[in-house]
Amino acid sequence: MSVLDLARAELRSIRPYTPGQWEPGLVRLNANESPWRAPGDTTERGLNVYPPPRPSMLTAKLAVHYGVDGREILVTRGSSEAIDVLIRGFCTAGRDAIVICPPTFDMYRLYAGIQNAAVVRVPLLADRDYALDVDGVLGALDSRTKIVFICSPNNPTGQSMARADVERICRETAGRALVVLDEAYHEFAEAEDFGALRARYDHVVLLRTLSKFVSLAGVRCGLLIAAPEVIEFSQNVLPPYTFPTPSIEHVLQALSTDSLRVSEERVALLKRERARLSAALRDLPQVREVYSSDANFVMVKAHDGTALRETARRAGILVRTFDDPLLVDCVRITVGRPADNDLLLRALSGASRGADA
Ligand code: PMP
Repeated sequence: MSVLDLARAELRSIRPYTPGQWEPGLVRLNANESPWRAPGDTTERGLNVYPPPRPSMLTAKLAVHYGVDGREILVTRGSSEAIDVLIRGFCTAGRDAIVICPPTFDMYRLYAGIQNAAVVRVPLLADRDYALDVDGVLGALDSRTKIVFICSPNNPTGQSMARADVERICRETAGRALVVLDEAYHEFAEAEDFGALRARYDHVVLLRTLSKFVSLAGVRCGLLIAAPEVIEFSQNVLPPYTFPTPSIEHVLQALSTDSLRVSEERVALLKRERARLSAALRDLPQVREVYSSDANFVMVKAHDGTALRETARRAGILVRTFDDPLLVDCVRITVGRPADNDLLLRALSGASRGADA
């Protein structure tokens, strides 16, 4: 059986769009573009011409960075778009379903809703530090289930999922559903990534993003890493020309040795700050629990989450609360620069002294 037996059959044979040819050095009168650059256009390629249908040079560089073959990568506009491509590619509207493990990243639900795919929820085990309910996930699979989403480290709770749990889900879903391991925050974790599982199983795919660790959320670059046949199929779902020229050039720059060194230093600093912030938050009387985190944020459970958020806001800082019954009084705090974290801690400890007085 091929993993593509799970995909939408009509998309497997869709006729692709044929892009106009691009040959450097030849005058391009085949794509209805402007012959002049716009004022202020400082890009290398020129914004008056379309980007390449697929960013193949960038794909090759990313393949080296992530240690995979170029045929195993699809570059997307943020990993959010990769979620969309997978759901549209594998779920027939009005019939199929995805499994998610809440509380988790809310975009899985959103894209499933846009595609009119059902969402089956198997909550993480809140009393076991938000571990996966492996039996629950496996028990939830039926003939309509096309994708299981697992986020590790999980947003918003912060923990990495236990390798043995993820391995068992991958092993027991072979031939039944795709498993998407969303590793958006992997660079902030100590554990090895799930690349080995991806290599072992064709139905396991990884999501990575350039939004966090190389400071490029505004560039919108994410990656789907999957078996070559899954990537080839996904190209049918993602039209050509979606990845913009400025994004290509910014990501290439971010992958230079010098830029990567700066990013690595910043990740190391954020990890130290995460430990410092977590310890200091634990000492605050308005905080009931600080969850362990492998990401660039920390989730706390407060006595009153809204009050904590408003105290931070009065000090000029935004933190995130959730309208989710699984996250009552939980607050997600992104780890900032040392001065930002100091400001937050001062505001919260000032508030707790005020409450004592
Ligand atoms: N996955 C997770 C778990 C996330 O938290 C995010 C962004 N917050 C994404 C994917 C999407 O990131 P992007 O589209 O910026 O790559």
